[in-house]
Amino acid sequence: MRKMVEVEIKVCDVCGNEEHVYDTCLKCGNDYCYDCAKVSGVDYRHSVYSSGSGDGYFCNKCIVEIRNNPQDKYYNLHEAYLNVARLRKEVEADYKDTQDKQDEAEKRVKYSRERAGLA
Ligand SMILES: [Zn+2]
Ligand SMILES: [Zn+2]
Repeated sequence: MRKMVEVEIKVCDVCGNEEHVYDTCLKCGNDYCYDCAKVSGVDYRHSVYSSGSGDGYFCNKCIVEIRNNPQDKYYNLHEAYLNVARLRKEVEADYKDTQDKQDEAEKRVKYSRERAGLA
C-alpha cells in the first residue's frame, strides 16, 4: 500500500538549505542551517560543563534587540546564558593555566631526577 503524507521540513531562512537545519532563533523563530548558524547568531549553552536540552540559539539581530531592551521577555534568559558563557571561558582558561603548571611541575621533576643522577 502506498500513502501520500505531508511532511514538514525545516528550511534555512538565510540560504534555503533543507539539510542540517538545526538552529532556530528562540526569539524570532528563524531557522538556520549548520553553516549559516555559525555566522548568523550565537548558540548559547545552559550549562558550564555540558550541553544539551536547555541550550538556546539567538540570531544576531535579536541579540541586539534584546540587549537594547531590558523589558524584552528574553532579556533575563539571554543574560543568564551570557553568564554561563563567561564561566565556560573562565573554566577553560583555568584548565589551560593548570595544564601549564602541571607541565612545568613535571618537567622540574624530570630535570631534577636527571640532576640527581637518577635519569
Ligand atoms: Zn543556510
Ligand atoms: Zn532572531
